Amino acid sequence: MKDNKKAHDIFTKFLKNGKNRITPERFQVLDVALEMEEHFGADELYLQIKMNKINVSRATVYNTLELLVQCKLLVKRNFGDNIAKYESCFERKRHDHLVCTDCGKIFEFTDTDIYPIIDKICTESNFEFNNYSFNIFGKCKDKSNCTKQNENLD
Ligand SMILES: [Zn+2]
Ligand SMILES: [Zn+2]
Repeated sequence: MKDNKKAHDIFTKFLKNGKNRITPERFQVLDVALEMEEHFGADELYLQIKMNKINVSRATVYNTLELLVQCKLLVKRNFGDNIAKYESCFERKRHDHLVCTDCGKIFEFTDTDIYPIIDKICTESNFEFNNYSFNIFGKCKDKSNCTKQNENLD
Protein backbone atom coordinates (compact mmCIF):
# COMPACT_ATOMS: atom_id res chain seq x y z
CA MET A 1 0.00 0.00 0.00
CA LYS A 2 1.39 3.36 -1.04
CA ASP A 3 1.49 6.32 1.29
CA ASN A 4 -1.37 8.38 -0.08
CA LYS A 5 -1.20 11.13 2.52
CA LYS A 6 0.38 13.62 0.13
CA ALA A 7 -2.27 12.89 -2.49
CA HIS A 8 -4.95 13.35 0.17
CA ASP A 9 -3.47 16.73 1.11
CA ILE A 10 -3.48 17.87 -2.53
CA PHE A 11 -7.10 16.76 -2.94
CA THR A 12 -8.23 18.35 0.35
CA LYS A 13 -6.70 21.67 -0.66
CA PHE A 14 -8.28 21.48 -4.11
CA LEU A 15 -11.73 20.66 -2.72
CA LYS A 16 -11.53 23.49 -0.19
CA ASN A 17 -10.41 26.03 -2.79
CA GLY A 18 -13.25 25.05 -5.12
CA LYS A 19 -15.74 25.05 -2.25
CA ASN A 20 -16.45 21.39 -2.94
CA ARG A 21 -17.66 19.19 -0.12
CA ILE A 22 -15.02 17.08 1.54
CA THR A 23 -16.54 13.64 1.93
CA PRO A 24 -14.86 10.36 2.95
CA GLU A 25 -16.31 8.73 -0.20
CA ARG A 26 -14.23 11.02 -2.44
CA PHE A 27 -11.06 9.94 -0.66
CA GLN A 28 -12.02 6.28 -0.93
CA VAL A 29 -12.38 6.75 -4.69
CA LEU A 30 -8.96 8.43 -4.77
CA ASP A 31 -7.31 5.58 -2.84
CA VAL A 32 -8.68 2.89 -5.15
CA ALA A 33 -7.81 4.97 -8.24
CA LEU A 34 -4.18 5.23 -7.12
CA GLU A 35 -4.04 1.44 -6.70
CA MET A 36 -5.39 0.71 -10.19
CA GLU A 37 -3.13 -0.85 -12.80
CA GLU A 38 -2.09 1.77 -15.30
CA HIS A 39 -5.03 2.78 -17.52
CA PHE A 40 -8.60 2.24 -16.38
CA GLY A 41 -12.11 3.30 -17.32
CA ALA A 42 -14.64 4.75 -14.88
CA ASP A 43 -16.63 1.51 -14.87
CA GLU A 44 -13.54 -0.59 -14.11
CA LEU A 45 -12.84 1.65 -11.15
CA TYR A 46 -16.44 1.36 -10.01
CA LEU A 47 -16.20 -2.46 -10.16
CA GLN A 48 -12.97 -2.43 -8.17
CA ILE A 49 -14.61 -0.21 -5.54
CA LYS A 50 -17.51 -2.68 -5.28
CA MET A 51 -15.04 -5.56 -4.96
CA ASN A 52 -13.35 -3.75 -2.09
CA LYS A 53 -16.80 -3.59 -0.47
CA ILE A 54 -16.77 0.20 -0.42
CA ASN A 55 -20.20 1.75 -0.61
CA VAL A 56 -19.95 4.58 -3.14
CA SER A 57 -22.48 5.37 -5.86
CA ARG A 58 -21.55 5.29 -9.53
CA ALA A 59 -22.37 9.02 -9.77
CA THR A 60 -19.87 9.78 -6.99
CA VAL A 61 -17.21 7.73 -8.79
CA TYR A 62 -17.81 9.66 -12.02
CA ASN A 63 -17.78 13.13 -10.51
CA THR A 64 -14.85 12.36 -8.22
CA LEU A 65 -12.85 11.21 -11.25
CA GLU A 66 -13.46 14.57 -12.91
CA LEU A 67 -12.32 16.40 -9.76
CA LEU A 68 -9.18 14.25 -9.58
CA VAL A 69 -8.38 15.15 -13.19
CA GLN A 70 -8.89 18.85 -12.44
CA CYS A 71 -6.47 18.73 -9.53
CA LYS A 72 -3.99 16.75 -11.66
CA LEU A 73 -3.77 13.65 -9.49
CA LEU A 74 -5.20 11.71 -12.42
CA VAL A 75 -4.89 12.30 -16.11
CA LYS A 76 -7.62 11.50 -18.62
CA ARG A 77 -6.57 9.72 -21.81
CA ASN A 78 -8.27 8.78 -25.02
CA PHE A 79 -6.71 5.91 -26.90
CA GLY A 80 -8.84 6.23 -30.02
CA ASP A 81 -11.83 4.14 -28.96
CA ASN A 82 -13.77 7.05 -27.46
CA ILE A 83 -13.69 5.50 -24.01
CA ALA A 84 -12.11 7.85 -21.51
CA LYS A 85 -9.30 6.14 -19.64
CA TYR A 86 -7.71 7.48 -16.51
CA GLU A 87 -4.33 6.96 -14.94
CA SER A 88 -2.56 8.22 -11.89
CA CYS A 89 0.01 10.93 -12.44
CA PHE A 90 0.71 11.26 -8.74
CA GLU A 91 4.47 10.78 -8.30
CA ARG A 92 4.66 9.13 -11.72
CA LYS A 93 6.95 9.96 -14.58
CA ARG A 94 5.48 11.94 -17.47
CA HIS A 95 5.05 9.58 -20.42
CA ASP A 96 3.28 8.95 -23.71
CA HIS A 97 1.76 5.90 -25.34
CA LEU A 98 1.97 3.41 -28.17
CA VAL A 99 -1.38 1.76 -28.86
CA CYS A 100 -1.68 -1.56 -30.71
CA THR A 101 -4.84 -1.45 -32.81
CA ASP A 102 -4.86 -5.27 -33.10
CA CYS A 103 -4.59 -6.47 -29.50
CA GLY A 104 -5.36 -3.19 -27.74
CA LYS A 105 -2.21 -3.27 -25.60
CA ILE A 106 -0.87 0.08 -24.51
CA PHE A 107 2.85 0.62 -24.08
CA GLU A 108 4.28 3.59 -22.24
CA PHE A 109 7.39 5.46 -23.25
CA THR A 110 9.23 8.55 -22.14
CA ASP A 111 11.14 10.60 -24.66
CA THR A 112 12.07 14.05 -23.42
CA ASP A 113 12.85 15.20 -26.99
CA ILE A 114 9.09 15.76 -27.42
CA TYR A 115 8.84 18.48 -24.74
CA PRO A 116 10.89 21.23 -26.39
CA ILE A 117 8.88 20.68 -29.58
CA ILE A 118 5.64 21.25 -27.65
CA ASP A 119 7.10 24.39 -26.07
CA LYS A 120 8.23 25.67 -29.46
CA ILE A 121 4.81 25.08 -31.07
CA CYS A 122 3.02 26.83 -28.19
CA THR A 123 5.38 29.81 -28.29
CA GLU A 124 5.09 30.14 -32.07
CA SER A 125 1.31 29.86 -31.95
CA ASN A 126 1.00 32.28 -29.01
CA PHE A 127 -0.75 29.53 -27.15
CA GLU A 128 -0.85 28.94 -23.42
CA PHE A 129 0.02 25.33 -22.70
CA ASN A 130 -2.26 23.34 -20.47
CA ASN A 131 -1.99 19.73 -21.54
CA TYR A 132 -1.20 17.62 -24.56
CA SER A 133 -1.81 14.12 -25.79
CA PHE A 134 0.52 12.08 -27.95
CA ASN A 135 -0.39 8.56 -29.00
CA ILE A 136 1.25 6.42 -31.66
CA PHE A 137 -1.12 3.87 -33.20
CA GLY A 138 0.18 0.74 -34.85
CA LYS A 139 0.65 -2.99 -34.46
CA CYS A 140 2.94 -5.15 -32.30
CA LYS A 141 5.71 -6.63 -34.41
CA ASP A 142 5.87 -9.59 -32.06
CA LYS A 143 2.83 -11.52 -33.32
CA SER A 144 3.14 -14.24 -30.65
CA ASN A 145 2.08 -11.66 -28.05
CA CYS A 146 -0.50 -9.89 -30.15
CA THR A 147 -3.93 -11.47 -30.39
CA LYS A 148 -6.68 -9.69 -32.25
CA GLN A 149 -9.37 -8.90 -29.73
CA ASN A 150 -12.30 -9.12 -32.10
CA GLU A 151 -11.00 -12.01 -34.21
CA ASN A 152 -14.13 -14.07 -33.61
CA LEU A 153 -16.41 -11.27 -34.67
CA ASP A 154 -15.34 -10.93 -38.27
ZN1 LIG B 1 0.13 5.69 -19.26
ZN1 LIG C 1 -0.67 -6.02 -30.37
